[in-house]
Amino acid sequence: MLTEVPAYGVGGTVLIVGAVWLLRRFALKSAALRSTLWRVALLTLWLLPAAVLVRGLLPVEPVTIHLPIAAPTAAETPPPPGTPQSGAGVPRAPAGSPMAAASRPGTNLLGALPLLWAAGSLVGLQLILRDLASGRRTVKRATALGEGPLFGVVTALTQRLGLIRVPRVAQSPDATMPAVFGMARPVLLVPAGFGLASPGAEAVLAHELAHIRRHDFLVQLAARITLALLWWHPAAWLV
Ligand SMILES: [Zn+2]
Repeated sequence: MLTEVPAYGVGGTVLIVGAVWLLRRFALKSAALRSTLWRVALLTLWLLPAAVLVRGLLPVEPVTIHLPIAAPTAAETPPPPGTPQSGAGVPRAPAGSPMAAASRPGTNLLGALPLLWAAGSLVGLQLILRDLASGRRTVKRATALGEGPLFGVVTALTQRLGLIRVPRVAQSPDATMPAVFGMARPVLLVPAGFGLASPGAEAVLAHELAHIRRHDFLVQLAARITLALLWWHPAAWLV
């Protein structure tokens, strides 16, 4: 039955994503394995909407959903033509009676759910756009590091890690720690005071380059879009 797909899907994905979250949090030390598992969890979240979509496209026998309060009451059903309007026939609930009033709130709440979903998703997508714009401004304000010693180390690390292209490297007063921004032409941003003399500088740069090699910016963006679209899903908050 169509309505069972979301119910089992949500329960199942909460279990799977929860297990992945616990593994990543407490059991796994390897960054590569944690990253792979995280992607599996993210994909799992999309399996539920995909299942609902596929199920919805398949021809199914008509399904009757028995909602206790959604059916129209006798008071709302127009009388068949020819019925005498004198009131002598079918007994009707008066407009203000408890029976007539009880059918309203439940119906309205169910009808409002898609609106609530859309409103939450709009807020989430808006926040993503805001953060992307802010990141772009930070990159624009940053000072590109040309052929300096830091860039030389990044170039050497890029070759060692098997990256195809050397990313742009820029220094930004807005950055509090080294970070990568962008997908097609990623920029490695380092804070203003950061240099090769900084503690663990080379390891930090290698760590950021590994993010570029794994396309983590794109995966992170996909996770945020997932949360924006499935914000009501408990497991979406874990990826
Ligand atoms: Zn990192």
